[in-house]
Parts: sequence; structure tokens; C-alpha cells
Amino acid sequence: MGDQIDALAERFRRSYRREPVGVWSAPGRVNLIGDHTDYNEGFVLPIALAQRTWIALAPTTGATSRYTSVQADESMAVEREAEPGAVRGWAAYPAGVAWALRQDGHDVPALNVMIDSTVPVGAGLSSSAALECALALALCDLLSLELDPTDVAMIARRAENEFVGAPTGAMDQVTAMHGRAAHALAIDCRSFDVRPVPLVLPGRGLELVVLDSRTPHALVDSEYGERRRTCQEAASRLGVRALRDLEPAALKAALTRLPDEKMRRRVRHVVSENARVLACTGLLAAGGDPREIGSMMNDSHASLRDDFEVSAPRLDVAVTAAQGAGAAGARMTGGGFGGCVVALAEGSRADAVVAAVTEAYAQRGWERPTRIPATPSAGAARVR
Ligand code: ADP
Ligand code: MG
Repeated sequence: MGDQIDALAERFRRSYRREPVGVWSAPGRVNLIGDHTDYNEGFVLPIALAQRTWIALAPTTGATSRYTSVQADESMAVEREAEPGAVRGWAAYPAGVAWALRQDGHDVPALNVMIDSTVPVGAGLSSSAALECALALALCDLLSLELDPTDVAMIARRAENEFVGAPTGAMDQVTAMHGRAAHALAIDCRSFDVRPVPLVLPGRGLELVVLDSRTPHALVDSEYGERRRTCQEAASRLGVRALRDLEPAALKAALTRLPDEKMRRRVRHVVSENARVLACTGLLAAGGDPREIGSMMNDSHASLRDDFEVSAPRLDVAVTAAQGAGAAGARMTGGGFGGCVVALAEGSRADAVVAAVTEAYAQRGWERPTRIPATPSAGAARVR
């Protein structure tokens, strides 16, 4: 990691012909269980990854910021006072963070920024939140703002929702800020209360296997919006603020009050998924064997596939192959329609799980899935 930081600082010097004032970083994340629960004000259980985004930065005089990323072809000039809609492409993510802080009344100077990342971009492991949170923390330090990590996460989220225009929940940013080594984070997406629970893997002979399905993305945004609207409508028909307020015991009766089968299935997913997250959280918090969350991961996948209908053939095939190769549990993770699959397996079975998924893809003529190491890791921090 030291090498990465040195290399980034050196790139900064070469590009901007000056010294950075510091280097900050924030991690990507993978969600163990709890998908499409966040915008229903429910529960999620992600881990922060060891893969991170690093930012070196210095304030500059004038009206123009410059953002440069090793992962992007072009260095971008952005007006210091750019408003939503004014910035196209990847620079909207960092420019949005500066904008969100200005919205809160902070005097954010023009910036020189250099970015590098080991989080795969666009794979569903939240390279966007890693970038936003690294910069948000950097700017808080630069401006001597004493914000707690959840407040920083909310600034990052606002950048993504209002400046970039992606209507996501706050799980990604909260995870990037609060990550902890050897822990998963039990997050209540209503209060944003965060409770780290032990997730000891190698010590228990286990490994998390994350595979990027490399599904060509299609229709993701419109389908996501449709699911959100359906959940909202169901909540209002049931007279609750959000589906999180529907207890499993009240589900059966509630379903009879909904107008169609599709809406009933959507609600059943959210309510059952929240219950699974709480059960996994309770198990890990009590120091239980992580293997025991495997069956709930399997149930979660079936629910996302059949009730919420956000899976995809490449996700289903990967999950089935992983389960067949002896994984304790496997599921799609993230918004769906593509992205990654997460499996929990005996360390001794991990290679066999990957091989089984790779073989199943090869048989269908699909691109080889990419294996991504997943180790529960620390959250955003200043690193220099
Ligand atoms: P994910 O967050 O799952 O990786 P998103 O579509 O939410 O996928 O965010 C990916 C986008 O974030 C990229 O298309 C790019 O605009 C921006 N981004 C993320 N990381 C970087 C980076 N290191 N350099 C430049 N842009 C980045
Ligand atoms: Mg993202």
C-alpha cells in the first residue's frame, strides 16, 4: 500500500508540478446479504473490501478544479462552482462531492486532484462510493470540518444522488466510511446506525469468493426505478412509512391487501430479506459460525430471483454452480441484472467453486468470470 501511495504522490507532482497536501483513501464494498432493502429503510450487511481508491490533492487558486484519474483517459477541468447537470462523465463524482459541501455552506476552494484505484470500476463493488468518500474525507480534513463518518457518507451520497443523478441508497457510502477489518457492518438504513459484527473467515477455515459475472448491462436504471416505485406504492397502500415497518408476522395479512401478484412478490422479498439480514447479524454478533449464514444467502438469492426478479442468467448460473461445488452459500449481490456473485466457502473448496463457475460459463460460451479477492477491511482514512 505504501508503494501505491508513493506512486500516486509522484504522479501528482508530475501532473501538477507541486506537492499534494495529503493522500486519502476509501474502500469498495461487497454486500453479504440484504439487497433492495436499503431504499425500503431496512437492513443490509456489507463488508468494506481491501481494494481502495486513493486521492492525492491540493487546493489551488482560481475558479477551475482539475481532476485526473489513472482509470480515466482524460484529465477533466471543472468550474469550481459547477452546478448539477454541468459536468458530464466521471468527473461528476468528485465535482459532486465539492458541490455537496458547498451546499452545506462550506467554502470549497478549487482543487488539483489525482486519483488511483484498485476497486474494479462498474462491477458493482462501489468504485463510485470509494471515490466520493475518499474525496469527501479529504475535503473535510482540508477545511478542518469535524464531521462524523456517517455525516461524511451523507455528503458523498448527496453527490451521487443529486449531482451525478444516480438514485442510490446510502449503503455504499456508509460502508466505505465505517469499514472495519475482520467485521461485517450491520447497517440500519433508516437511522444509519452502524454495528460492526465479527466476520472471521480464514481463522474459521472460510473464504469469501466474489466473482464478477461480466454481464452486459441493460435496463438497470429503469428496472431499479420501477422496483423503488412499486415498493413505495405498496408501503403507502399498507399505511406504513416504508416496507421496513412491515413485520414478518404481519406479512400474510398485508399481502391480501395488495392489488396484484407482482406487488405481493416484491413486498415478500423485502420483508423476508430484512428478516434474513437480522438473523445473519444476530448470528455473527453472537460469535456464531459464519457457515450458518450460508443457507440464508441461498434463500436470499432465490428471493431476489423469483420474487424481486432482479437476477440475470449469468448470476443464476454462477450461484447454482457455486452451490453445486459445495459453497456454504451463494447469491447475487448488489442491484442485480449483472454485477457480482458472492459465495461463502471452505477455504479448501474456494478454488473448486471458482472452477465450477468458470466451467459453467465456458459451456455456454460466456466470457470468463473474474475472481475478486474479498477481505473485510478498514474504512476511509487519511493515509499521508
Ligand atoms: P460501481 O460503483 O459499482 O463501480 P458505478 O456505475 O456506480 O459502478 O460507478 C462507476 C463510475 O464511477 C465510473 O463509470 C466512473 O464514472 C466513476 N469512477 C469510479 N472510480 C473511478 C476512478 N478510479 N477514476 C475515474 N472514475 C471513477
Ligand atoms: Mg456505484
